[in-house]
Formats: sequence, structure tokens, C-alpha cells
Amino acid sequence: MFILLMGPPGAGKGTQAEKLIRDYGIPQISTGDMFRAAVKSGTELGKEAKSYMDKGALVPDSVTIGIVGERLAQKDCQKGWILDGFPRTEAQAKALDDILKEMNISLTAVLEIKADAKGLIKRISGRLVCKGCGASFHKDFRPPAKEGICDNCGGELYQRADDNEATVGERLEVYEKSTRPLIDYYKKTGKLYEIDGDQEMDKVYDDICGVLKKVSR
Ligand code: AMP
Repeated sequence: MFILLMGPPGAGKGTQAEKLIRDYGIPQISTGDMFRAAVKSGTELGKEAKSYMDKGALVPDSVTIGIVGERLAQKDCQKGWILDGFPRTEAQAKALDDILKEMNISLTAVLEIKADAKGLIKRISGRLVCKGCGASFHKDFRPPAKEGICDNCGGELYQRADDNEATVGERLEVYEKSTRPLIDYYKKTGKLYEIDGDQEMDKVYDDICGVLKKVSR
């Protein structure tokens, strides 16, 4: 299964991806996670990405397309993947089309997780992420059983540097301007499915599984 998870920051893409990995056994390719890992390791890529991420801006297409191309060529991606946070621009979508063509892969589904704009800021500013396994929690909506500790792996929970109110506004604007137009791009392929992301987390996942069952029949 080759799935694109789309939707604004804070819509719950990462949380839903966690469940898909568990149930479908395919890797999640999150460009945001890849950039954060590079920042943590202090690589040249990390230094460049950080300067954009701190402002809530997009990392340039040439850099982003390059790392995704390399990642999708790895062996664990042969049977499927969940792309989370890519593509975010028209150039990225076109580059992905080329990569898929070259690999002889066709997308299974594009899932657009829709969420009310007002709720997104609350979701993002209370989000906590595990340093160990990357699982997402929320201080009010999905609190961990033990404060500051991941329920899944016991890792330390932290707040992402860009999950603050100042940067969130910019990230939402960037989404509207650069990424939302891709919804129409994928609508034309007939593979776009809208998911109501304002429902309870498990209900969102049920809806996703319903779509995946339908498309893989
Ligand atoms: P995310 O974890 O998906 O919210 O991404 C965090 C940040 O990483 C974004 O605000 C961007 O600065 C950068 N980023 C992630 N994915 C992309 C992408 N596909 N294109 C450009 N920048 C990206």
C-alpha cells in the first residue's frame, strides 16, 4: 500500500500514521521527522533545515525532494509506505509523480485529514512528542499515563521547537498557500479521500481503515 497522508499541521497525521505502521507493517516516511533527526545529529542538512523550520517555513524543494527520493529507494519501501508531510508544494508533487513512475508504483490512496483551523493551534501548542519512538501525545487531549513519559516505550516526552504559537501561525499560512492547492491536484487523480479529523482519534482511524479496505478490494 502506498499512501499519502495530507492535512494541515496538527491534524493528527503522525498519530494516525503510528496506527497504520502497527496494523499494516509498512514504514512511515515523515519528512519532518527526517529533518528533526538531521538537526539532532548536527549534519549539514540539519543545519540548513533548522534555519527554515525555526521560522515555520518550508525547507527548499531541491533538498526535500532529494532526501525523499533516497529514502523511497531503500529496501523497506518496496512493499509500501505512508508518506507523511510530503509533498507540500506543487514541485514536490511533480517530483513524486516522477519517482513513482520510475519505480513503477501507483498510489493506493491520498488521505486528506481535515480539521477545524481554530482547534489546530490548541492541538499543536499542547503536543508532546517522544524522544525515543516519536509517538505523539497531548497535554490535555491525549495525556500520557505518567507525566513526561511515553506510554509506548518509556522515553522522555518533549515539546517540538516549532510547536509554539508564534511559529504555528506561519506554518498554517504556509499550508494554505503552498500545500492546500495539492488537494485539487490529487482530486483529479480520483484517489483523494476526505477524512474528518475533528472526530475522536479512534473514529478517525476507523474511517481511514474503511477507505483502505475499499481501495484495496
Ligand atoms: P512536520 O513535522 O511535518 O510538521 O514538519 C516540520 C517542519 O519541517 C516544517 O514546518 C518544515 O519546515 C519542514 N518540512 C517537513 N516536511 C517538509 C516538506 N515536504 N517540504 C518542506 N519542508 C518540510
